[in-house]
Amino acid sequence: ATPTALMVGTGRSARMGILIKNGEVLEAVNDVSTVIFDKTGTITVGKPQVTDIVGDSDQVLAAAASLEQSSEHPLATAILKKAKAAKVTVGDAKDFEAIEGKGVSAMIAGKQSFVGNDKLLDDVTVSSEMKAKMAALQAEAKTVVFVGQGDQIIGLIAIQDAPKPTSKAAISALKAKGLKTVMLTGDNQAVAQAIADQVGIDQVVADVLPADKADQVKQFQQSGKVAFVGDGINDAPALSTADVGIAMGSGTDIAIESGGIVLVKNDLRDVSKALELSKKTFNRIK
Ligand code: ADP
Ligand code: MG
Repeated sequence: ATPTALMVGTGRSARMGILIKNGEVLEAVNDVSTVIFDKTGTITVGKPQVTDIVGDSDQVLAAAASLEQSSEHPLATAILKKAKAAKVTVGDAKDFEAIEGKGVSAMIAGKQSFVGNDKLLDDVTVSSEMKAKMAALQAEAKTVVFVGQGDQIIGLIAIQDAPKPTSKAAISALKAKGLKTVMLTGDNQAVAQAIADQVGIDQVVADVLPADKADQVKQFQQSGKVAFVGDGINDAPALSTADVGIAMGSGTDIAIESGGIVLVKNDLRDVSKALELSKKTFNRIK
């Protein structure tokens, strides 16, 4: 192996905004057969917007915003932004609790209240009308959360996070290389599939709890080497587990630390470029 070729190769990619941290990455890239993507902030822009509210709009939004004021989740940010724009009063919430991969709960005006997905609903029944509205919104690639108080669902909030303009081209480039593309997300199956269809992703694994992302990567590793592309705190274990971890430069510090490759320009098309450059560099040094 010639270290000079390695340095020239990685120096060239660095100037293109693709940071390759070490030689091990170069070796693994040669045999990658599957590229797995996180959804929020990786395939999508990561700045979700509230698009629809089902129920008494002000009441639903006020309850949801009161619940979400202590959450740092992108969905919480979207709900708080909408509440501000609609000038609804955000009330006090006690005993706030974030439930990973599900939502948040707290006491509002003496009532146990929550915002989140159906994994939070144990004793609550959802009317068939509400279920139908939810399915229709999900088919439009919108994430839908329930807003509940006591044993009542008071409404739904639909939140949309559009794919990045370059995601479709990024996926096509990988598929043209014969690679399998997969999306891994904690979001619901219907929403995930709708977004996957928009960008041309081959396979969707939805409803994955943050703690289970790395295990999912291991499953795919049984049929070949895997690259994982992500940006979030909850992507760090998957980035380390994958044969090639690719972090978005806009990602959280821990994601960037866990990735062997960092895409400084945050352009998803650089995934394909990174794989290509690594391969070339590796073939030169071996
Ligand atoms: P992702 O893989 O998209 O980052 P998460 O694991 O963070 O997903 O969240 C998965 C799902 O859990 C969300 O789509 C939503 O239904 C629910 N959820 C998580 N946190 C919140 C929150 N703060 N408010 C409402 N719903 C939430
Ligand atoms: Mg993400």
